[in-house]
Amino acid sequence: MSGGPPIDGLETAVYRFPTPQPEADGTLTWDATVAVVVALHAGEKTGLGWTYSSAAAASVIHDKLADAVTGCGAFDVAGGWSAMHRACRNLGTRGLVTQAISAVDIAWWDLEARLLNVPLTALMGQVRTEVPVYGSGGFTTLTDEQLADQVAKWQSAGCAAMKIKIGEAGGTRVYRDLTRVQQLRDLAGPDVELMVDANGAYSTGQARRVGTELDQLSVAWFEEPVSSDDTAGLANLKAALNCDIAAGEYAADLYEIGHLLPVVDCLQLDVTRCGGYTGWLRGAALAQAHNLDVSAHCAPALHATVAAAIPNFRHLEWFTDHARLEPLLVDGAPKPVNGAIRPNTDQPGHGMQISDSAAEWCIG
Ligand SMILES: [Mg+2]
Repeated sequence: MSGGPPIDGLETAVYRFPTPQPEADGTLTWDATVAVVVALHAGEKTGLGWTYSSAAAASVIHDKLADAVTGCGAFDVAGGWSAMHRACRNLGTRGLVTQAISAVDIAWWDLEARLLNVPLTALMGQVRTEVPVYGSGGFTTLTDEQLADQVAKWQSAGCAAMKIKIGEAGGTRVYRDLTRVQQLRDLAGPDVELMVDANGAYSTGQARRVGTELDQLSVAWFEEPVSSDDTAGLANLKAALNCDIAAGEYAADLYEIGHLLPVVDCLQLDVTRCGGYTGWLRGAALAQAHNLDVSAHCAPALHATVAAAIPNFRHLEWFTDHARLEPLLVDGAPKPVNGAIRPNTDQPGHGMQISDSAAEWCIG
């Protein structure tokens, strides 16, 4: 395969989707989700990618990445990824920069598949036809009725696992955390796998005490019980608790993933934060070498294809905010049926394009 037609254009657009009301987890409050979208052009085709980030990611794309990718062969995604990474050395290649690279990388894979006129599933390979999703939301700001509404939506989507936020107010409301987990059990019934996410709100000792209670409630998944930077704390909890310890949503590269692999029971990876499809596939291979599953963090529409391409996949997060906004942003976003989504296998690329109605949320 040649390098393909040269990349000859790149545009960004920024969309802001307000949440219905302010939402919170254990360590953050927010009232909107910002999607930074990339359109990448070559050979009269356009690839589409995006990240969930800040408008600042669009500045990184224009200031640093556009020059690095222009003129590259459209079939040379790996070369382009390295060129983008090199171009950002002095900015630091993690966090915001990786989110920017992720959006371009995703657009690039989509562009290559569209140029070849094949679905992205054909380019990446496919080890499964369905990608299981779990319901996720359960913000600490929800009323009991709002939580019940979310659970009802996940039930009608057929989700076999459901996750809520705990660690409310920086881990200062443990009694309410545990009461809400019991509420989730009552709403979801005995057969649903319960998952919780503390977003790093607890100290290690506190997380161990909460985790002991969670084990009594048959909770299967305890995400970021302490900060994911605290690998010693995660190791302590992994040894002490029955529930799976999970982390990885902020991992930007193989070094960060490598630090987490010994201290988690399941690795989370996010295509919008770990270097796009290229970074995600590499991270998943590294996890496989440690006999670990990968769970896809948020961005369900973007993960559908790549999640179908790896053998060591557990589930994909059907995150309330993203599940609401992705059908507003793009046409062709997958919908869950019987607890799973199906990646696109008939349209070229990932099969999604910006929706006409998305203009309403465009801010730049
Ligand atoms: Mg999380």
